[in-house]
Amino acid sequence: MIEGNLRRDPLNKCWVVFAPEKVNTIIQQSSEKEAKFDINPYLPGLEYATGKDILRRINPAYADKGWSARVFPAKNPILKIESEKNFRGEGLYDTMARLGAHEVVVETPKSDINFDRLSIEEIADAYSIIMDRIGDLKKDSRFRYILVTKNRGLDAGGTINHNYSEIKAFPFIPPIIQYKLDNCIQYYKIKERCLVCDIIDQELSDRKRVIVENDMFIAFCPYASRYPFEIMIVPRKHRNIFEGPNEDVVKELAKIAKTVFYKIRMALNAPAYNSVFHFQPVNSRESEDLEAKAYHWHISIIPRMSNIPSEMIEAGIFVNPTLPEEAAEFLRNIRD
Ligand SMILES: [Zn+2]
Repeated sequence: MIEGNLRRDPLNKCWVVFAPEKVNTIIQQSSEKEAKFDINPYLPGLEYATGKDILRRINPAYADKGWSARVFPAKNPILKIESEKNFRGEGLYDTMARLGAHEVVVETPKSDINFDRLSIEEIADAYSIIMDRIGDLKKDSRFRYILVTKNRGLDAGGTINHNYSEIKAFPFIPPIIQYKLDNCIQYYKIKERCLVCDIIDQELSDRKRVIVENDMFIAFCPYASRYPFEIMIVPRKHRNIFEGPNEDVVKELAKIAKTVFYKIRMALNAPAYNSVFHFQPVNSRESEDLEAKAYHWHISIIPRMSNIPSEMIEAGIFVNPTLPEEAAEFLRNIRD
């Protein structure tokens, strides 16, 4: 098997992860609609089928299962923690080893359950275990960005029919994150205010795109939503990164997430979706303070209602048939 590496595309200025061992997974994803695994390895009793736990939560309600949420290294990681960076040139091209971390967070021992059907305590447990891992991974100064994603359903890139998230620590800042960060910094330098704080003020004054809110968080459809029913969950108070343990904040986040995912399921007939945490990059050194003032953490949720066409892949042009004001109104009207 060829080792794989990271390569930088000088034209698009982005790093690409080459993971040759993923060939079967990727081919299957493009040709099959059915779940690929006969056995769900994330169920209690099958822990031997996954990596050894890095961390686990034990909720009294699950005493018989042994755990309520657990984190372990991905069995087929796209990034490897033991690698040296090995940054070098190949002619005009840049390459480096696949340095990084790739972990799986199994959010519940229950199989075949919608995320919003978990209790607030269960969802809070899942989020707090993620925050604990971020706090630990950021201590590794080789890492520059920690990406937390949840892909639910095959159409969203999910591989197992179970509630799980993935944590990946990269030795570079992903291009879309860098772009957003640059925009936030530019805005802050001119206005001495955080862009997302200003967006929250605007959304709370317009009210047309707000779906639900509580004391600490607000969920809304962005003004220029790229995808139908795209949703942002944002803390009301300026924070660059969500770090635990802060039980109140985690609980409020769990509450609003439960409501938002419930509304998505009811309104859109349980679609596949992607949910991504956006945090300030880690180990920025000299620009850390400016980034912390300028970048406001948030969650993006994208129900997978449509395929991604070529104008998006090659030109970054999004075509969205659903106005965010209509999407928000539709979701607001879904009653618990
Ligand atoms: Zn802010």
